[in-house]
Amino acid sequence: MKTAILAEGLKKRYRETDALAGVDLAVSTGSVLGLLGPNGAGKTTTVRVLATLLRPDAGRAEVAGADVLTRPDEVRRRIGFTGQNAAVDALLTGRENLVLVGTLLHLGRSAARARATALLEEFGLTEAADRPIGTYSGGMRRRLDLAACLVGRPSVLFLDEPTAGLDPVSRMTLWQAVRRLVDDGVTVLLTTQYLEEADYLADQIVVISAGQVIADGTPDELKRKIGQEWLEVSVLSPASLATALAVLAPLAVAAPTVDEAKNKIALRLRDGMEGVVSVAVSLRDAGVDITDFALRKPSLDDVFLALLGHPTTQP
Ligand code: ATP
Repeated sequence: MKTAILAEGLKKRYRETDALAGVDLAVSTGSVLGLLGPNGAGKTTTVRVLATLLRPDAGRAEVAGADVLTRPDEVRRRIGFTGQNAAVDALLTGRENLVLVGTLLHLGRSAARARATALLEEFGLTEAADRPIGTYSGGMRRRLDLAACLVGRPSVLFLDEPTAGLDPVSRMTLWQAVRRLVDDGVTVLLTTQYLEEADYLADQIVVISAGQVIADGTPDELKRKIGQEWLEVSVLSPASLATALAVLAPLAVAAPTVDEAKNKIALRLRDGMEGVVSVAVSLRDAGVDITDFALRKPSLDDVFLALLGHPTTQP
């Protein structure tokens, strides 16, 4: 598989802060990399270097087949970049904004108009197309911002905290739009503080802290590093709790945890997923009435707590 984004040993220092202290990254064409880390970790600095907006002090990077230091113009022609604030003019309408971008990219007047119409349709903005974007909601603005950076059909897209501050519905709409782009072969590098977002969108996650990569892998690999999945069984009554415990204890790696207030037992199974069926059969044979039976995986929040000793979002 081809590599669309490659960074080797990127360093950037601001006075006494090492914003980047040697960052390496590789993103395969048509995949999504989630760059995660707490405030000040160096996420935005990394993206700005890769998008040719900032020169690193050391290291090299290639984006969409061109070197960011020696062929920045080629990189710029092939990428799209959305910042944390929608970079569009609030006095112009949605359509005017997109046509303006197309004109700046020398698409020609009629091609720019056609592209604008298609993108407005794709992002559900047709009805609002001829209203000044000052009247748009936050979610609509983000969608327009994303549409604006797609006018030039970039092959690599940088999304810096694309859904910060959006409500869950707007966030899902944007996620789905990103998924469609990836299905069409676009490569995405996404920075986010939302673990859920990385979990939903990213094929690969890189965790940075104090300018250094401290972990990388697929969301599942990172979760597995922290611990295996566990089984939670809730039963109908306190009486069946004792019976259930007697059935479950021999199947568990260690003594199960019992929550008497909720009639719930949590345990790690000796045989992993294989053991789930025998647990269900044994409980049924023992006549235990089950109200909930769920396999739980550690969340990315658990991963962060384990890696950093604190969650990603600092107070
Ligand atoms: P956030 O999640 O808060 O956006 P981030 O991971 O994107 O954080 P960066 O913005 O890349 O982090 O910043 C990395 C470090 O470099 C921080 O300590 C920041 O204070 C510092 N820094 C960034 N830009 C500058 C600048 N122009 N001048 C001085 N220091 C800077």
